Amino acid sequence: MWNRIWQLHTPPKVRNFVWRACSDILPTRTNLYRRKVPVDPACGICQQHDETVAHALWSCPMARNVWALVTGKLQKRSSEVKDFYVLVRGLMAELSPKEMEVCATVSWSIWNARIRYLFDKKQTQPCDILRGAMSLLQDYQRLCQ
Ligand SMILES: [Zn+2]
Repeated sequence: MWNRIWQLHTPPKVRNFVWRACSDILPTRTNLYRRKVPVDPACGICQQHDETVAHALWSCPMARNVWALVTGKLQKRSSEVKDFYVLVRGLMAELSPKEMEVCATVSWSIWNARIRYLFDKKQTQPCDILRGAMSLLQDYQRLCQ
């Protein structure tokens, strides 16, 4: 699984991000709370659930709105995911490397949109989050050819 993450044909920052997300070391509110940082572990966007990696990148309504725009096998996946590592392991078994690269870059893009919203109060539309991810991925792959 880790080898497959490192072999993804995405910008290195995306591979590194997916590795950190799967290792559960992203600074989500739940992880900060666990490290005794005085924050409310609830999601800063929907306030409905604790902000775990799986919630932030997959189950949060904000993330769902982006994933809803991604066509293919991802659509059939349940929105209820407890563990991001388990989700990625399942996706790796099912998706082609190309689809996995899209999935990784969209996750990275969702995370960055969350940061922009939570820290700069700037809201990014789901279609712009997806478009940003796709153009980053395409530019990178074009440059590498
Ligand atoms: Zn949320």
